[in-house]
Formats: sequence, structure tokens, C-alpha cells
Amino acid sequence: MHLVSYILLSAGVIAALPAAYWGIPVVFDKVSRFLLARRAARLNVLAITLDDGPGADLTPAVLAVLARHRARATFFPLGRNVEAAGDLLRQVAAQGHEICSHGYDHANHWKVTPWRAVSDVRRGWRAVDRALGVAGGVYPFRPPEGKLNLVSLVYLLWKRAPVVYWTADSGDTWTGGVPRDAEKMAAHLEADGGAVVLYHDFDRRDPSTRRFVIDSLETTLGAAERLGITSVTVGELFRLSVS
Ligand SMILES: [Zn+2]
Repeated sequence: MHLVSYILLSAGVIAALPAAYWGIPVVFDKVSRFLLARRAARLNVLAITLDDGPGADLTPAVLAVLARHRARATFFPLGRNVEAAGDLLRQVAAQGHEICSHGYDHANHWKVTPWRAVSDVRRGWRAVDRALGVAGGVYPFRPPEGKLNLVSLVYLLWKRAPVVYWTADSGDTWTGGVPRDAEKMAAHLEADGGAVVLYHDFDRRDPSTRRFVIDSLETTLGAAERLGITSVTVGELFRLSVS
């Protein structure tokens, strides 16, 4: 092969590798969110999702709000928190909520090695298994910070584990003085008619943040009831048929 062609081909391969490693998961993310938003809107359903828990203080408070509204939610716990609060996770499951996984250590798959990302997914699943007294569970996965790499994406697809993004962020982890609005998710439902909403149920040091999570959940669930939007788990959202 001519030297120039060889150099150009090598440069092309080198340029394509990172594009595939990060780029394919980014496209997957965008398409998944688009389809999820469209599905939730068409079905007129609200899926409340809670990440990073369980928290000994906040999770029971969240469960109380959900029970008051007779709503079932979907939890994406971290394995490291599950190990410290297995009883609480069993309580969440016993109340009819859906248990998925957010990995073990909140590994951002763009910042760790591919094998570390996959092992974090697996450790997260095993922690949920141990808490629930089952074995070999494959739980729908929410990527920490929404980030997957090509290896972790292929692994999840191979395991047939649904990757679950969200369509609206409550803002309960926003920092840096970004104003928070407990009515924001309610306004979102009013405009779009359905959503997969992101909350977090790990314990907060700041009492105003804890209050915000509870207040926002209340207003969101109240708005759904007022607008005739049904609360569903993520599993139900995937199984419901779009007419
Ligand atoms: Zn998270």
C-alpha cells in the first residue's frame, strides 16, 4: 500500500475509535430519550424515578408521599447504599415499587475503564440480588450521569437489560445557585402530558433540599391527578401498548 494511503487509513481508524466509543452511546442516549418522551406523552403517563438511594431518612419520607397518592415509582438504587440499607430496599419492593439499578459506586462510564464500568453494573445488580434474596437478577439500568461507553452499552444490550433514561429533571441535585422550582415538573406535565421524571432519594444534609424533594413530588403527583395522567412504573411504561 502506498505510504500516504496507509497513513490516511491509520489516521481514519484512530479517529473512528473514540467516535465509536463515546459517539454510539451518545446517539443511543438521544434516540432513547426521544422515544421515551414520545411514549410517555402518547400514553399520558407519569413515571416517577428515584436515583442514588436508598437513604435512611429520605426514602421513607418519599414512600409516605407515594403511598398518600397511591402511586408506584421506580427506584434506581446504588449498590453501595443498598448494602447499608437492605431492609429499606425490601420495604420499597414490598410496597409495590419497582427496583432497578444505578450501578454500585456511581461510576461515570466516560471516566472509568470499560471493564470497571461493566464491573460496576454487575456489582450493582448483585447488591440488589442480595438485598432481595434472589440470584442472577438483570435489572433495568440507569447510567450514572446518563453516561455509557460502547463496551458498557454492548454489555447491557447483550444482557437484555433495558437502559432507562429520563425526560424531565426535577433539579433536586442542581447546585451553584440554579433556582429550584417545586412546580416545574407539574408545569412540564401540563405542557407535555406525560414524562419520566428524575428525583433522588439519597439523604441530604441540607434540609431545604430534602423539603424540595418532598414538595416537588407532592405537586407533581397532584398535577398528574388533576390532569388525569396515570402514574406507572418504568416496567409498566415499557409494557403498555401505544394505540
Ligand atoms: Zn445518580
